[in-house]
Amino acid sequence: MKVNMKTGKVYLVGAGPGDEKLITIRGMECLQAADVVVYDRLANPRLLKYAGPDTEFIYCGKLPKRHTLRQESINTLLVEKALEGKSVVRLKGGDPGVFGRVGEEAAELAAHGVEYEIIPGITAGIAAPIYAGIPVTHREYGTTFAIVTGHDKSADGKPSLDWAALAAGVDTIAFYMGIANLPHICEQLIAHGRAPETPIALIRWGTMGRQKTLTGTLASIVEEVDKSGFSNPAIILVGEIVRLRETISWFEKNLCSGSKFCWRARAGNLAALQTC
Ligand code: SAH
Repeated sequence: MKVNMKTGKVYLVGAGPGDEKLITIRGMECLQAADVVVYDRLANPRLLKYAGPDTEFIYCGKLPKRHTLRQESINTLLVEKALEGKSVVRLKGGDPGVFGRVGEEAAELAAHGVEYEIIPGITAGIAAPIYAGIPVTHREYGTTFAIVTGHDKSADGKPSLDWAALAAGVDTIAFYMGIANLPHICEQLIAHGRAPETPIALIRWGTMGRQKTLTGTLASIVEEVDKSGFSNPAIILVGEIVRLRETISWFEKNLCSGSKFCWRARAGNLAALQTC
């Protein structure tokens, strides 16, 4: 590894949930000053235009079942670029600390004595619901909220969770990476005492112009998904709070119908047009 006199620094930046404008000001500052940007599939690629003209871009998104660059290679890459004296931005979807492996990357940087800064981002499990008209807490509908993985690295990918505690003790549950295991999630919650009529919402591509929301109940949603072919990336939100969507849905009202040309986007709603 070539070591430069001036050691660089790595900025582990949360890109926010989707819409490019939902990155933080600090995240944007780091992007503008970066020599290298290492980015993921879920970080909006439109953010790359804010980096300087000489910036090097490295894509390392992990597509399902196809690992473009394994995590160890990413860790090594970050260390190498920093030791070359570069200012490196590691741009990650949502918040880097929420199922974002920032702990592994920061530990590797620390082990090599590389300086780093971690910049939080808005996580999809909160942003996608609120763009679907569902706050994750509400004094009357939900006072506890959990962020839960819907997938793990076991052979069948089904997460080993304390289902009884989740079903009985948490009002609103956001499952990440859970669409493939939706039948399992619904079955487990019902088997552990959650009412089959409990409302559930699936929000795909939250905060983007192509956002789509599907609602149902723990008993009905699997069939709805089969009918509509709903797929990742999506947040699964479970809880009575989902009912609020009927009254406070706002973002999707201004969106196009999914048509390529967004002909139904309301005049003046540039945000919707730009993010489609
Ligand atoms: N660090 C990210 C989460 C990475 S795990 C964050 O804080 O948001 C990847 C999972 O996040 C996806 O499988 C999906 O469940 C969720 N996700 C990420 N972006 C999303 C989006 N725009 N809309 C809905 N779900 C999203």
